[in-house]
Amino acid sequence: MATGAVGHNVGLAQIALTQRERHMTAFTGQHAAEPIHKGPASGLAPNLEDYDLARSQFSWASARAELAGLPGDALNIAYEAVDRQADGPLADTVALRFLDLGGVAAELTYAQLKRATSRFAGVLEQLGVARGERVFVLAGRIPELYVAALGTLRHGSVFCPLFSAFGPEPIEQRLRLGDARVLVTTVTLYTRRVAGLRPRLPGLAHVLLIGSDAEIEALPGTDDLRALMDRAPDHREPAATAPEDMACLHFTSGTTGEPKGAVHVHEAVVGHRATGRMVLDLHPGDIFWCTADPGWVTGTSYGIIAPLTIGATCVVDEAELAVDRWYGILQDQHVTVWYTAPTALRMLMRAGAEVAHEYDLSALRFVASVGEPLNPEVVHWGQEAFGLPVHDNWWQTETGGIMIANYRSMDVRPGSMGRPLPGVEADVCRRDADDKPLLATDGSLELASEGEQGELVLRPGWPSMFRAYLGDPVRYSERFVGGWYLTGDLVRRDADGYFWFIGRGNDVIKSSGHLIGPFEVESALLEHEAIGEAGVIGKPDPVAGEIVKAFVLLNPGFEPDEELRRDILAFSRRRLGAAVAPREIDFVDVVPRNRSGKIMRRVLKARELGLPEGDLSTMEPGS
Ligand code: AMP
Repeated sequence: MATGAVGHNVGLAQIALTQRERHMTAFTGQHAAEPIHKGPASGLAPNLEDYDLARSQFSWASARAELAGLPGDALNIAYEAVDRQADGPLADTVALRFLDLGGVAAELTYAQLKRATSRFAGVLEQLGVARGERVFVLAGRIPELYVAALGTLRHGSVFCPLFSAFGPEPIEQRLRLGDARVLVTTVTLYTRRVAGLRPRLPGLAHVLLIGSDAEIEALPGTDDLRALMDRAPDHREPAATAPEDMACLHFTSGTTGEPKGAVHVHEAVVGHRATGRMVLDLHPGDIFWCTADPGWVTGTSYGIIAPLTIGATCVVDEAELAVDRWYGILQDQHVTVWYTAPTALRMLMRAGAEVAHEYDLSALRFVASVGEPLNPEVVHWGQEAFGLPVHDNWWQTETGGIMIANYRSMDVRPGSMGRPLPGVEADVCRRDADDKPLLATDGSLELASEGEQGELVLRPGWPSMFRAYLGDPVRYSERFVGGWYLTGDLVRRDADGYFWFIGRGNDVIKSSGHLIGPFEVESALLEHEAIGEAGVIGKPDPVAGEIVKAFVLLNPGFEPDEELRRDILAFSRRRLGAAVAPREIDFVDVVPRNRSGKIMRRVLKARELGLPEGDLSTMEPGS
């Protein structure tokens, strides 16, 4: 979840046809629908009424049976998310309601979304894109992003979102690692961040641009997405993809090496729908607002797929967080279910519960949060501000969907991530001094006892589980030991089976809900002429959870002064983009390393926080 820029409350629901809607009209072939309806009343019974009963009765086979599927055991996410509704009584229900930066609203009903995604799939077909090839989208939360995502899935190629705040380096790396064949982006993002990369990306055959005809014409090697879509047919059947065919590729950062492309398949939709129902309590007709950007896995699994498979209306806001704007959206859109992030809630909390009380939030039935630890104070504040607790849940890019949650029908234990999803077995394993899982003599994992800290492990087998790190079988297989998937997070479990998050088991940084690999940042810093060595950590921050902080050792001949600090900050923002670049830089005389040359980030962190440096036996002398 990115936070940042501004906006103020506008009467979004009342605004008449404007630029964006005219554009959408061209896009979908229809006028935007009339004002939205209210979602189901708050008296609605929870989908999951009794956790223990649901856990004992649940099976993934029965969750799979609730989907329609396609002939010949084929399964296509786009069919489940779009056509199933478009071909039934929900055809004219709004599937996606977009609010643009100016506060102007535009809508796509399920029927319109079916046509738009058919056209997009038709464009890919005409371009000769093959099933399984990667279609990247680099854009803010605009309608084209959503149409491209579902159109790609309909076509049978693979949707790969890129966060629009990425700078050229993370973009190039991901396009290269993901073997991009097609990129959909805007004229502005293309000219500023991608055009210069083209010579190094020979496999990128097609760049489809969103912008004015004249601008696009002036850019060689690109095509006009709208013009191509205008020529494509209104109907195209979803590809008969097999459940195990690759559907989405989401990049995630590790402590070392390049980002990893987590491969997700069409079968994942079974998990998306089941969790949308059981955890987010989505019902047909709900007005659902997931504030996450599809550039991160939450914004795809829950900002697009899950709610549409259930027949909800998704609100999509193009702007970043601004207190009045967000409350205005909750009120004017009659949002019934809201899925957001702790950083965002903490920012709202700072403005005070009384601001929330200025708005009519009576439509709101359920509030959930994900991505970082949710401090108990926020849960209590939610009760005061909305009359509802905030329901924390836990998952990660690799799991594809929610794994541990506080459910609507269960009391929230503030500070706890909740209990495992029905159909998911979670446990805690002990770790040795090197942070590796402890194995018993028979090769099984040594599991922790109640209340004991250890690594969260999950028994593989749920449908939205990642199937590979693209092109990296070794890193993938390292995530599985003794029949369990290792999550890399440290937790404990209490006597009632609630899980409590303790921290990440590695050096990966979580800033405003974004996972950032320190290695990626260090590598970019080393390209600055003044920097000889760099170590990067997540520094605790009361709002963002963590911020990226770098410690740099200068090359001979460079003086550590304010001007150089500002130059390094600006350099890294240009390279990495605002979401990834360090916010603080310290000049140091030495970057601590262990004897094998690995940067000891935990030592940097301990020094930063004034904490004991721990076991230094492996540290290189002089560090
Ligand atoms: P990502 O793969 O970017 O979705 O990040 C996943 C990581 O975010 C997890 O491994 C956790 O470290 C963190 N995370 C996600 N949800 C929670 C939560 N509810 N509480 C604490 N940390 C979380």
